[in-house]
Amino acid sequence: MKVLDARSAELFAQAQEVMPGGVSSPVRAFKAVGGTPRFIARAQGAYLWDADGNRLLDYVGSWGPMILGHNHPEVVAAIQEALQEGLSYGAPTEREIALARLVREAYPMADLVRFVSSGTEATMSALRLARGYTGRELIVKFRGNYHGHADSLLVQAGSGLLTGSGGTARSAPSSAGVPQALAELTLVADYNDPEGLGVLFERHGEQIAAVIFEPVVGNAGVLAPTPAFLEALHRLTRQYGALLIADEVMTGFRLAKGGAVERLGLKPDLICWGKILGGGLPVGAYGGRAEIMQQVAPLGPVYQAGTLSGNPLAMAAGIATLKTLFQDPPYARLEAYGKALEEGLQEVFAEAGRPICLNRVGSMVTAFFREGPVETYAQAVESDTEAFKRFFHGLLRQGVYWPPSQFEAAFFSTAHGEQELAFTLEAAQLAVRGL
Ligand SMILES: *Cc1c(COP(=O)(O)O)cnc(C)c1O
Repeated sequence: MKVLDARSAELFAQAQEVMPGGVSSPVRAFKAVGGTPRFIARAQGAYLWDADGNRLLDYVGSWGPMILGHNHPEVVAAIQEALQEGLSYGAPTEREIALARLVREAYPMADLVRFVSSGTEATMSALRLARGYTGRELIVKFRGNYHGHADSLLVQAGSGLLTGSGGTARSAPSSAGVPQALAELTLVADYNDPEGLGVLFERHGEQIAAVIFEPVVGNAGVLAPTPAFLEALHRLTRQYGALLIADEVMTGFRLAKGGAVERLGLKPDLICWGKILGGGLPVGAYGGRAEIMQQVAPLGPVYQAGTLSGNPLAMAAGIATLKTLFQDPPYARLEAYGKALEEGLQEVFAEAGRPICLNRVGSMVTAFFREGPVETYAQAVESDTEAFKRFFHGLLRQGVYWPPSQFEAAFFSTAHGEQELAFTLEAAQLAVRGL
């Protein structure tokens, strides 16, 4: 058989000599699925081309930003225009006003917006702001939710924390290098467990500065929030004077113009953005009510800064992306593609007699290799990851680039159409045969 990835394998070997694991971010190394990560040479629309010249139908979308597909002409033109004017000034620019206005148009509750350069920076800064604003130190996050790699968020539930127990055990670092003392300031609760959250607030509510959550989880695979969970989040944070932080880094501008906040009718105090907001260039942001955001430097005592924050090229890409989305909202079309993909995959797996649970919200989808329902992290982790690996590699051999982990969301874009749908389902049929 022809070797499809000889050049990628050679590059991977070279990369490992100069970078840890050969990558700039761990999931790219294919550790969860084995094999050689494809080195990407270029991209256009719904497709990537790897270093061996294979065309791959892309369901990773740079892990979320590429909702318009790769190299969208409006975005490319906007970057080219900005490029003529210099790369970075370290001084304010008009484009920042334009992008902040677009964010506010989609999220009217965000009176003020601060730009940073990544989602990690956005959530880290929002947590500092919540602590500064409330004068409290504890934060709450949920098992299986990912908010970037800030120390306070690389934390797992300590032993003894069981669903519904309310988090009495001390949290522990989930990464080496995170101080135990810092980890203990982050309480870890179970997603979609309103009772557990209630117990946790009864015990610690007066000391909790903020609860941060993924309004639709993408980072454990796709998990949708239950209405009872969303109700408890709002009620408990309000009752105890804690801030509710919606991490919309993945879902913002993807699930609706106003993200999950609009789609689910949420009322968070602070919102974090990233990914789509930068249209493929490095951007993050956080925002909320003026009275809270006015605590950020230079207006207030909460310090936060960035040499490349509000970078002109990144702002230009973000403006072009949001304008394109707002002018001709693609959400109904994405929903239709998603529905057809979901139904098609259901059929492929049903015909093969393989259990599968497809969780999809808008243009985010995960095929969990187990019987449904999958509503909690505990249920997600019981998936058959060995079967997923075989499915993943089966798809890849057919030219479909699915996320290389059971616990990541697949994304599609406005560049995915009828042809791409048919191609995906044919590839899935062949991949399922190999299970
Ligand atoms: C990707 C992601 C982040 C981190 O963003 P980076 O730009 O990778 O730092 C934070 N929160 C959520 C929900 C994400 O999906």
